[in-house]
Amino acid sequence: MSLLVVGSVAYDAMESPYGKVERTLGGAATYFAVSAAFFTRVNLVAIVGDDFLPDDEACLCARTIDIEGLERAPGKCFFWAGRYSENLNERVTLATDLNVFAEFKPRLPEKYRKAKYVFLANIAPDLQRDVLKQVTGKPKLVAMDTMNYWIERTNDELLKTLKHVDILMINDSETRQLSSEHNLLRAARRIFKMGPSTLVVKRGEYGAMLVDKHGVFCVPAFPLEQPYDPTGAGDSFAGGFMGYLAEAGSTSDAALRRAMVYGSVLGSFTVERFGLERLLKLKKREIEARARHFAKLTQFTL
Ligand code: AMP
Repeated sequence: MSLLVVGSVAYDAMESPYGKVERTLGGAATYFAVSAAFFTRVNLVAIVGDDFLPDDEACLCARTIDIEGLERAPGKCFFWAGRYSENLNERVTLATDLNVFAEFKPRLPEKYRKAKYVFLANIAPDLQRDVLKQVTGKPKLVAMDTMNYWIERTNDELLKTLKHVDILMINDSETRQLSSEHNLLRAARRIFKMGPSTLVVKRGEYGAMLVDKHGVFCVPAFPLEQPYDPTGAGDSFAGGFMGYLAEAGSTSDAALRRAMVYGSVLGSFTVERFGLERLLKLKKREIEARARHFAKLTQFTL
């Protein structure tokens, strides 16, 4: 089952206590697509400039990622730079240069329009809605991400988009900001009134929590002795989560729980190296081995 993603394909610069990278392929849609492609075919909708390197294009094409929806425009790719604190929990954004992204009007190629699984990565909420309008027929599952910038500046647009979405996947501070509730369960109840029937809260090194009508399900983050760079971990989580569901062709409670584990597995591999480095070398058998490790990690008897 193919999976549609719309979002950023970017060049990133990162600094952390463990090193520095000046310019490397990144973007929310890139992390998502590379992670999801371990499970299913991914149709990518994004925009790049004329500085997008042939090697980076080849890197996407070498996987089950269709790039017919990757528009090329005169100008530069989206560029983002960030610096992490000693404990990697805090991040300062040093630069967000929209470049060609400023004029982005997502256009779905004909063959993407019957998408059954859709992920709207973190972009302007009106563009997210625009993509949904181009999908013909009813998708089986629509999930989305957003961030403080859109919650603060385009709240009305965001609320309109949320009405069409099944799963909202955001971090804990975004959850609190969107719902004006500190408690995450009460926050979930408020968010359900906005449209989504499921909330997935990404909590960095504390794992992730899914709340829906069945109740709550939590997964830990995989304990790593040496995390390097958390950039893209949330998008890789989303890629593992949606990729698994699209492959399984199911949104049952059991499938959603397994999707949470695969999300956490992909997120954990991403932080092991800078940028996409670890994901690009990753093998499916390593994903399965780590998923089995998760089962052991969380098993107990009463
Ligand atoms: P995350 O660490 O999950 O927040 O994702 C980081 C990725 O998102 C980086 O590769 C950036 O290129 C991309 N990114 C950062 N800011 C934005 C933004 N405002 N819109 C779209 N993508 C962004």
